[in-house]
Amino acid sequence: QQREYASELHLPAVTQDEKRIHLYINAGLLSGVENQLAEAADGIGLYRSEIPFMLEQRFPSESAQVKVYRQVLKAASGRPVVMRTLDVGGDKPLPYFPIKEENPSLGWRGVRFSLDHPELFLIQLRAMMTASVVEHAQLSILLPMVSSIDEIDMALAYFEQAFEELQQEYGSQALRPKIGIMLEVPVLLFQLEEVAQRVDFVSVGSNDLTQYLLAVDRNNPRVSGLFDAYHPGILRALRRARIDCDKYGLDVSVCGELAGEPMGALLLVAMGYDRLSMNQGNLAMINYLLRRVSCAELQNLLLQSLSQSEGQDVREVVREFLMSLG
Ligand code: PEP
Ligand code: MG
Repeated sequence: QQREYASELHLPAVTQDEKRIHLYINAGLLSGVENQLAEAADGIGLYRSEIPFMLEQRFPSESAQVKVYRQVLKAASGRPVVMRTLDVGGDKPLPYFPIKEENPSLGWRGVRFSLDHPELFLIQLRAMMTASVVEHAQLSILLPMVSSIDEIDMALAYFEQAFEELQQEYGSQALRPKIGIMLEVPVLLFQLEEVAQRVDFVSVGSNDLTQYLLAVDRNNPRVSGLFDAYHPGILRALRRARIDCDKYGLDVSVCGELAGEPMGALLLVAMGYDRLSMNQGNLAMINYLLRRVSCAELQNLLLQSLSQSEGQDVREVVREFLMSLG
Protein backbone atom coordinates (compact mmCIF):
# COMPACT_ATOMS: atom_id res chain seq x y z
CA GLN A 1 0.00 0.00 0.00
CA GLN A 2 2.97 2.27 0.59
CA ARG A 3 3.48 2.37 -3.16
CA GLU A 4 -0.10 3.49 -3.69
CA TYR A 5 0.37 6.27 -1.12
CA ALA A 6 3.63 7.30 -2.71
CA SER A 7 2.02 7.60 -6.13
CA GLU A 8 0.22 10.73 -4.91
CA LEU A 9 3.12 12.23 -3.05
CA HIS A 10 3.66 14.85 -5.72
CA LEU A 11 0.08 16.09 -5.26
CA PRO A 12 -0.69 18.59 -2.50
CA ALA A 13 -2.80 17.58 0.50
CA VAL A 14 -6.15 19.08 -0.49
CA THR A 15 -9.38 17.71 0.94
CA GLN A 16 -12.39 16.83 -1.21
CA ASP A 17 -13.86 20.23 -0.36
CA GLU A 18 -10.67 22.05 -1.39
CA LYS A 19 -9.09 22.78 1.94
CA ARG A 20 -5.33 22.83 1.60
CA ILE A 21 -3.51 21.18 4.49
CA HIS A 22 0.20 21.93 4.76
CA LEU A 23 2.32 18.93 5.63
CA TYR A 24 5.80 19.29 7.07
CA ILE A 25 8.38 16.88 8.34
CA ASN A 26 10.01 16.52 11.74
CA ALA A 27 13.77 16.17 11.51
CA GLY A 28 16.71 15.93 13.85
CA LEU A 29 19.46 14.14 12.04
CA LEU A 30 20.95 15.57 8.96
CA SER A 31 21.30 12.32 7.11
CA GLY A 32 18.27 11.73 5.03
CA VAL A 33 16.80 15.21 5.34
CA GLU A 34 17.45 15.89 1.68
CA ASN A 35 15.75 12.68 0.61
CA GLN A 36 12.94 13.31 2.99
CA LEU A 37 12.36 16.69 1.47
CA ALA A 38 12.76 15.55 -2.09
CA GLU A 39 9.04 15.42 -2.55
CA ALA A 40 5.80 16.47 -1.03
CA ALA A 41 6.75 18.13 2.22
CA ASP A 42 5.95 21.82 2.48
CA GLY A 43 9.04 22.28 4.64
CA ILE A 44 10.52 21.25 7.97
CA GLY A 45 7.95 21.86 10.69
CA LEU A 46 10.18 20.83 13.56
CA TYR A 47 13.95 20.57 13.57
CA ARG A 48 14.95 19.09 16.93
CA SER A 49 18.31 20.78 17.49
CA GLU A 50 19.07 18.71 20.58
CA ILE A 51 19.66 15.64 18.40
CA PRO A 52 22.95 16.87 16.85
CA PHE A 53 23.96 18.13 20.31
CA MET A 54 23.42 14.63 21.73
CA LEU A 55 25.87 13.16 19.24
CA GLU A 56 28.77 15.42 20.24
CA GLN A 57 31.40 15.13 22.99
CA ARG A 58 30.90 18.72 24.17
CA PHE A 59 28.69 21.71 23.45
CA PRO A 60 29.29 22.47 19.76
CA SER A 61 30.90 25.84 19.02
CA GLU A 62 29.03 28.60 17.23
CA SER A 63 30.78 27.92 13.95
CA ALA A 64 30.12 24.17 14.25
CA GLN A 65 26.45 24.91 14.81
CA VAL A 66 26.29 27.31 11.87
CA LYS A 67 27.64 24.52 9.70
CA VAL A 68 24.99 22.02 10.82
CA TYR A 69 22.10 24.50 10.54
CA ARG A 70 23.25 25.61 7.10
CA GLN A 71 23.08 22.04 5.87
CA VAL A 72 19.55 21.68 7.21
CA LEU A 73 18.43 24.94 5.60
CA LYS A 74 20.13 24.03 2.35
CA ALA A 75 18.28 20.72 2.29
CA ALA A 76 15.00 22.57 2.60
CA SER A 77 15.87 24.49 -0.59
CA GLY A 78 13.80 27.58 0.07
CA ARG A 79 10.96 25.91 1.91
CA PRO A 80 10.24 27.13 5.43
CA VAL A 81 12.12 25.59 8.34
CA VAL A 82 11.20 25.75 12.01
CA MET A 83 14.27 25.23 14.20
CA ARG A 84 13.67 24.51 17.81
CA THR A 85 16.24 25.65 20.36
CA LEU A 86 17.81 23.07 22.63
CA ASP A 87 15.25 20.82 24.33
CA VAL A 88 17.54 18.82 26.61
CA GLY A 89 16.65 17.39 29.97
CA GLY A 90 13.71 15.08 30.57
CA ASP A 91 14.05 12.16 28.18
CA LYS A 92 16.87 13.79 26.19
CA PRO A 93 20.13 13.75 28.13
CA LEU A 94 23.38 15.26 26.89
CA PRO A 95 26.24 12.82 27.55
CA TYR A 96 28.61 15.68 28.44
CA PHE A 97 26.17 17.54 30.70
CA PRO A 98 24.45 15.04 32.97
CA ILE A 99 21.41 16.32 34.84
CA LYS A 100 20.40 14.24 37.84
CA GLU A 101 16.88 14.91 39.05
CA GLU A 102 14.13 13.05 40.90
CA ASN A 103 11.58 14.09 38.37
CA PRO A 104 13.21 14.98 35.07
CA SER A 105 9.99 15.53 33.11
CA LEU A 106 9.05 18.24 35.56
CA GLY A 107 12.57 19.49 35.89
CA TRP A 108 15.28 21.43 34.20
CA ARG A 109 14.57 21.09 30.50
CA GLY A 110 13.94 23.04 27.33
CA VAL A 111 13.88 26.81 27.61
CA ARG A 112 14.43 26.58 31.38
CA PHE A 113 17.90 25.25 30.70
CA SER A 114 18.57 27.83 27.98
CA LEU A 115 17.51 30.76 30.15
CA ASP A 116 19.83 29.56 32.91
CA HIS A 117 22.67 29.36 30.39
CA PRO A 118 22.34 32.54 28.36
CA GLU A 119 25.86 32.16 26.96
CA LEU A 120 24.85 28.87 25.33
CA PHE A 121 21.43 30.18 24.33
CA LEU A 122 22.89 33.24 22.60
CA ILE A 123 25.39 31.13 20.69
CA GLN A 124 22.60 28.93 19.43
CA LEU A 125 20.31 31.81 18.47
CA ARG A 126 23.13 33.58 16.62
CA ALA A 127 24.16 30.38 14.88
CA MET A 128 20.63 29.74 13.64
CA MET A 129 20.23 33.34 12.46
CA THR A 130 23.62 33.39 10.77
CA ALA A 131 22.89 30.16 8.94
CA SER A 132 19.61 31.66 7.79
CA VAL A 133 21.24 34.82 6.39
CA VAL A 134 23.93 32.90 4.57
CA GLU A 135 21.44 30.46 3.07
CA HIS A 136 18.73 33.09 2.36
CA ALA A 137 16.37 30.81 4.21
CA GLN A 138 12.86 31.12 5.56
CA LEU A 139 13.66 30.44 9.17
CA SER A 140 11.42 30.39 12.22
CA ILE A 141 12.78 29.77 15.71
CA LEU A 142 10.79 27.73 18.20
CA LEU A 143 11.20 27.66 22.00
CA PRO A 144 10.48 24.37 23.83
CA MET A 145 8.88 23.76 27.25
CA VAL A 146 7.72 27.31 27.84
CA SER A 147 5.51 27.48 30.93
CA SER A 148 5.17 31.21 31.64
CA ILE A 149 4.83 34.57 29.94
CA ASP A 150 7.89 35.71 31.81
CA GLU A 151 9.97 33.03 30.12
CA ILE A 152 8.76 34.26 26.74
CA ASP A 153 9.77 37.82 27.60
CA MET A 154 13.19 36.76 28.82
CA ALA A 155 13.78 34.58 25.77
CA LEU A 156 12.65 37.40 23.48
CA ALA A 157 15.21 39.73 25.05
CA TYR A 158 17.98 37.26 24.14
CA PHE A 159 16.45 36.83 20.69
CA GLU A 160 16.64 40.62 20.18
CA GLN A 161 20.21 40.72 21.44
CA ALA A 162 21.23 37.96 19.05
CA PHE A 163 19.46 39.71 16.20
CA GLU A 164 21.19 43.03 16.92
CA GLU A 165 24.54 41.28 16.83
CA LEU A 166 23.59 39.72 13.54
CA GLN A 167 22.65 43.12 12.15
CA GLN A 168 26.01 44.52 13.17
CA GLU A 169 27.65 41.84 11.09
CA TYR A 170 25.29 41.58 8.12
CA GLY A 171 23.52 44.97 8.07
CA SER A 172 20.33 45.03 6.04
CA GLN A 173 20.94 41.47 4.85
CA ALA A 174 19.95 40.28 8.30
CA LEU A 175 16.31 39.26 8.28
CA ARG A 176 14.49 38.74 11.54
CA PRO A 177 13.28 35.14 11.84
CA LYS A 178 9.78 34.52 13.08
CA ILE A 179 9.65 33.38 16.67
CA GLY A 180 7.25 30.94 18.27
CA ILE A 181 6.79 28.64 21.22
CA MET A 182 5.84 25.03 21.71
CA LEU A 183 2.39 24.67 23.21
CA GLU A 184 3.14 21.65 25.38
CA VAL A 185 2.79 22.79 28.98
CA PRO A 186 -0.95 22.88 29.69
CA VAL A 187 -1.06 26.14 31.60
CA LEU A 188 -0.41 28.11 28.43
CA LEU A 189 -3.70 26.85 27.00
CA PHE A 190 -5.22 29.47 29.28
CA GLN A 191 -2.85 32.28 28.34
CA LEU A 192 -2.98 32.25 24.56
CA GLU A 193 -4.05 35.88 24.42
CA GLU A 194 -0.85 36.96 26.17
CA VAL A 195 1.17 34.52 24.07
CA ALA A 196 -0.30 36.01 20.87
CA GLN A 197 0.81 39.50 21.92
CA ARG A 198 4.41 38.31 22.04
CA VAL A 199 5.17 35.66 19.43
CA ASP A 200 4.36 34.92 15.79
CA PHE A 201 3.18 31.34 16.15
CA VAL A 202 2.72 28.32 18.38
CA SER A 203 3.37 24.69 17.61
CA VAL A 204 1.35 22.16 19.55
CA GLY A 205 3.55 19.44 21.04
CA SER A 206 0.90 16.83 21.55
CA ASN A 207 3.38 14.35 23.05
CA ASP A 208 4.28 16.48 26.03
CA LEU A 209 0.89 18.14 26.20
CA THR A 210 -0.68 14.68 26.62
CA GLN A 211 1.96 13.70 29.17
CA TYR A 212 1.34 16.79 31.28
CA LEU A 213 -2.44 16.90 30.95
CA LEU A 214 -2.74 13.25 31.99
CA ALA A 215 0.16 13.25 34.45
CA VAL A 216 1.50 10.14 32.71
CA ASP A 217 5.22 9.78 32.01
CA ARG A 218 5.39 9.22 28.26
CA ASN A 219 8.37 6.86 28.63
CA ASN A 220 7.32 4.77 31.62
CA PRO A 221 6.12 1.34 30.42
CA ARG A 222 4.23 0.77 33.68
CA VAL A 223 1.79 3.51 32.91
CA SER A 224 2.04 3.59 29.13
CA GLY A 225 -1.48 2.19 28.91
CA LEU A 226 -2.70 5.45 30.39
CA PHE A 227 -0.88 7.63 27.86
CA ASP A 228 -3.61 8.36 25.35
CA ALA A 229 -3.72 11.36 23.07
CA TYR A 230 -7.27 10.32 22.08
CA HIS A 231 -8.55 10.81 25.61
CA PRO A 232 -11.63 12.99 25.04
CA GLY A 233 -10.26 15.54 27.53
CA ILE A 234 -7.09 15.90 25.46
CA LEU A 235 -9.13 16.30 22.29
CA ARG A 236 -11.20 19.02 23.92
CA ALA A 237 -8.02 20.81 24.97
CA LEU A 238 -6.71 20.64 21.40
CA ARG A 239 -9.96 21.94 19.99
CA ARG A 240 -10.03 24.77 22.55
CA ALA A 241 -6.47 25.70 21.59
CA ARG A 242 -7.40 25.88 17.90
CA ILE A 243 -10.39 28.11 18.65
CA ASP A 244 -8.36 30.45 20.86
CA CYS A 245 -5.51 30.73 18.37
CA ASP A 246 -8.08 31.82 15.80
CA LYS A 247 -9.59 34.28 18.20
CA TYR A 248 -6.24 35.90 18.99
CA GLY A 249 -4.84 35.72 15.46
CA LEU A 250 -2.07 33.32 16.38
CA ASP A 251 -0.65 30.98 13.71
CA VAL A 252 -0.68 27.40 14.90
CA SER A 253 0.62 24.03 13.77
CA VAL A 254 0.87 20.59 15.37
CA CYS A 255 4.18 18.74 15.53
CA GLY A 256 3.50 15.93 18.03
CA GLU A 257 3.08 12.30 16.98
CA LEU A 258 -0.69 12.70 16.77
CA ALA A 259 -0.30 14.74 13.57
CA GLY A 260 1.34 11.78 11.80
CA GLU A 261 -1.29 9.20 12.78
CA PRO A 262 -4.24 8.69 10.41
CA MET A 263 -6.83 9.01 13.20
CA GLY A 264 -5.05 11.92 14.80
CA ALA A 265 -4.61 13.82 11.55
CA LEU A 266 -8.32 13.45 10.75
CA LEU A 267 -9.36 14.78 14.14
CA LEU A 268 -6.89 17.66 14.00
CA VAL A 269 -8.03 18.70 10.53
CA ALA A 270 -11.62 18.47 11.76
CA MET A 271 -10.70 20.92 14.52
CA GLY A 272 -9.36 23.33 11.94
CA TYR A 273 -5.64 22.66 12.12
CA ASP A 274 -4.17 23.03 8.66
CA ARG A 275 -0.45 22.64 9.35
CA LEU A 276 0.74 19.25 10.47
CA SER A 277 4.34 18.22 10.99
CA MET A 278 5.24 14.55 11.21
CA ASN A 279 7.91 11.90 10.79
CA GLN A 280 8.71 11.56 7.15
CA GLY A 281 7.56 7.94 7.05
CA ASN A 282 3.96 9.00 7.65
CA LEU A 283 3.75 11.81 5.15
CA ALA A 284 2.65 9.85 2.08
CA MET A 285 -0.08 8.04 3.96
CA ILE A 286 -1.46 11.19 5.60
CA ASN A 287 -1.40 13.04 2.30
CA TYR A 288 -3.26 10.17 0.61
CA LEU A 289 -5.84 10.04 3.39
CA LEU A 290 -6.54 13.77 3.53
CA ARG A 291 -7.10 13.86 -0.21
CA ARG A 292 -10.02 11.45 0.32
CA VAL A 293 -12.02 13.18 3.03
CA SER A 294 -14.01 16.38 3.27
CA CYS A 295 -13.91 18.81 6.18
CA ALA A 296 -17.70 18.71 6.25
CA GLU A 297 -17.85 14.99 6.97
CA LEU A 298 -15.02 15.34 9.47
CA GLN A 299 -17.15 17.72 11.52
CA ASN A 300 -19.54 14.90 12.31
CA LEU A 301 -16.69 12.64 13.18
CA LEU A 302 -15.28 15.23 15.57
CA LEU A 303 -18.57 15.81 17.36
CA GLN A 304 -19.10 12.11 17.73
CA SER A 305 -15.54 11.65 19.04
CA LEU A 306 -15.81 14.46 21.55
CA SER A 307 -18.95 12.97 23.03
CA GLN A 308 -17.20 9.70 23.96
CA SER A 309 -15.98 9.22 27.49
CA GLU A 310 -12.89 7.10 26.83
CA GLY A 311 -10.00 7.22 24.40
CA GLN A 312 -10.67 3.68 23.26
CA ASP A 313 -14.23 4.65 22.29
CA VAL A 314 -12.88 7.58 20.30
CA ARG A 315 -10.54 5.24 18.46
CA GLU A 316 -13.42 2.92 17.70
CA VAL A 317 -15.49 5.77 16.23
CA VAL A 318 -12.64 7.01 14.07
CA ARG A 319 -11.68 3.48 13.04
CA GLU A 320 -15.19 2.92 11.76
CA PHE A 321 -15.00 6.11 9.77
CA LEU A 322 -11.69 5.00 8.27
CA MET A 323 -13.17 1.63 7.35
CA SER A 324 -16.04 3.37 5.62
CA LEU A 325 -13.51 5.09 3.37
CA GLY A 326 -12.36 1.69 2.20
C1 PEP B 1 6.01 17.12 21.63
O1 PEP B 1 6.24 17.22 22.83
O2 PEP B 1 4.90 16.80 21.15
C2 PEP B 1 7.08 17.38 20.65
C3 PEP B 1 6.86 17.47 19.36
O3 PEP B 1 8.34 17.55 21.12
P1 PEP B 1 9.27 16.36 21.63
O4 PEP B 1 8.59 15.07 21.25
O5 PEP B 1 10.58 16.56 20.98
O6 PEP B 1 9.31 16.60 23.11
MG1 MG C 1 7.98 18.17 23.62
